[in-house]
Amino acid sequence: MLYGTLSALAVAFLFYLTDPYGNPRHHGPVSDHFDGRRFFNPGPVSEHGFRDFLRWQFHSERGFWPEFIDEPPGPPPPARVEGDHLRVTFIQHSTVLIQTAGLNILTDPVWSKRVGPVPWLGPRRRRSPGLRINDLPRVDLILLSHNHYDHLDLRTLRSLQEAHAPQLIVPLGVHALLKSKELGPAVELDWWEAFSLRNDLKVTCVPAQHFSVRGFRDRNNALWCGYVLEGPGGRIYFAGDTGYGPHFERIGRQFAPIRLALLPIGAYKPTWFMSPVHMSPHEAVLAHQTLGAQTSVGIHFGTFALADEGEKEPEIDLQRALKEAGDPMPQFWKLGFGEGRDVPSCSSEMTRVSPIQCTSQS
Ligand code: ZN
Ligand code: ZN
Repeated sequence: MLYGTLSALAVAFLFYLTDPYGNPRHHGPVSDHFDGRRFFNPGPVSEHGFRDFLRWQFHSERGFWPEFIDEPPGPPPPARVEGDHLRVTFIQHSTVLIQTAGLNILTDPVWSKRVGPVPWLGPRRRRSPGLRINDLPRVDLILLSHNHYDHLDLRTLRSLQEAHAPQLIVPLGVHALLKSKELGPAVELDWWEAFSLRNDLKVTCVPAQHFSVRGFRDRNNALWCGYVLEGPGGRIYFAGDTGYGPHFERIGRQFAPIRLALLPIGAYKPTWFMSPVHMSPHEAVLAHQTLGAQTSVGIHFGTFALADEGEKEPEIDLQRALKEAGDPMPQFWKLGFGEGRDVPSCSSEMTRVSPIQCTSQS
């Protein structure tokens, strides 16, 4: 008995020491968001630690989630969308297919049944995938926003890499994780660094207000970010996971006009614990306005029960926030799982404060 307990403790301690699921430490120059050991959010952001996490878990009031929502997948998307046309397909959670300029771009792809270090651990999927992974058109580019399991899913990445051999773009520190799992290579970017996939398509890594962790001792070993794509179809912003912060103002200023913004609207309750690192639907509408985005799409809801809000709450709170935002109502879509939609193109003469006149391409 004693021998068994000691063995279990020894294994646990060894796991803690070696941290086999952790992100390797990043080595690089100090910056306004890297102190030489760990990344951090610049400015007065009150990140919560393990004690606060326990406090949340102890007092947690979970909203209702159905056991499992089994819906048929959406129709296969077109093989390619050319020129300045832009099509967005919301697959689930933060997995979105962006099609423009003859390129197929996936954000944070996750098809696994659970998001965790091993297949039997971590939050489980509460709905069938919005799109069959085999129905994806050829994937040219994958944007990874950070290393959390619900965004960086090694099993999905492995199968996509085998089937499509896409270009991967990751924030600082994540390449070492991929490499240690024999994935990649990937282009690794710091905030405000850019990579040109083609001479007419540029990807810029932009700040987000969040954190990273995969193991026991690797908190903030790697960076977190959003991305702005610039191509013939205009500018597209993928926010990753983020709290509401001053970065939206700067991104909006630097990249105006933003034709499409993908903004998270889930994992926001309880507010005292979540608000530094996740937006509520109300804050997402505020971000849409601050960015001056022409169209936004809500993401990061309805697939994994990560926080206290119920499955339907993000939708209900988004509708309420949009009504409160006034007239004209912001063009902020809640797409169905697996639903694809053409994104209107807008006149290039617009300024961020003028009313937005869009003409639909379809
Ligand atoms: Zn996250
Ligand atoms: Zn997330």
